[in-house]
Amino acid sequence: MSFFDIYNIPFKDLEQGRIHKFEFDVNNDFFENFEYSEYKEGQVKVLVELTINPDNLVLEFYLSGKIKVVCDVCLGEFFHPIDYHTTLYVKFGDYNTQWFDYDQEIVINRAESNINIAKHIYDFINLALPIKKVHPLDQNGRPTCDPVMLEKLDELKPGHHEEKEQDIDPRWEQLKKLLN
Ligand SMILES: [Zn+2]
Repeated sequence: MSFFDIYNIPFKDLEQGRIHKFEFDVNNDFFENFEYSEYKEGQVKVLVELTINPDNLVLEFYLSGKIKVVCDVCLGEFFHPIDYHTTLYVKFGDYNTQWFDYDQEIVINRAESNINIAKHIYDFINLALPIKKVHPLDQNGRPTCDPVMLEKLDELKPGHHEEKEQDIDPRWEQLKKLLN
């Protein structure tokens, strides 16, 4: 028995043509058990609405919760909210595909009676988060990044000192005059 067995949806005996609802919880254990997970902490509620058709399954995913991420600006950690809806199409075939394609379609062997959605939940969490993750703004519209860290990072930036010197470099002033 694997930790991820709780993310199995047994669909074989379910009635066709109507919607079947399932609820799953994603918590720190989920990420701990997930090999190579980029995230370590988070709570996400996952609602799945499954429709069974003769040739395929359609799974509507609704994810809501928060994931701890690293801010790309100040490198501090914060919980990023998630509120995401997407659809996964599952075609019946003679084999199982590991990854969904551009159309979010996968193939499972028609002999299967379960579909495990743990990996898909992980992929959808990734899609739900923005590529650039930055601390949110406060009520006054100011960034909530760590100010001490920002100052340190600014000092470490290449060119931090040279730029200042360049402004007062007389040769630079001369060049500017020539160009004007
Ligand atoms: Zn930040």
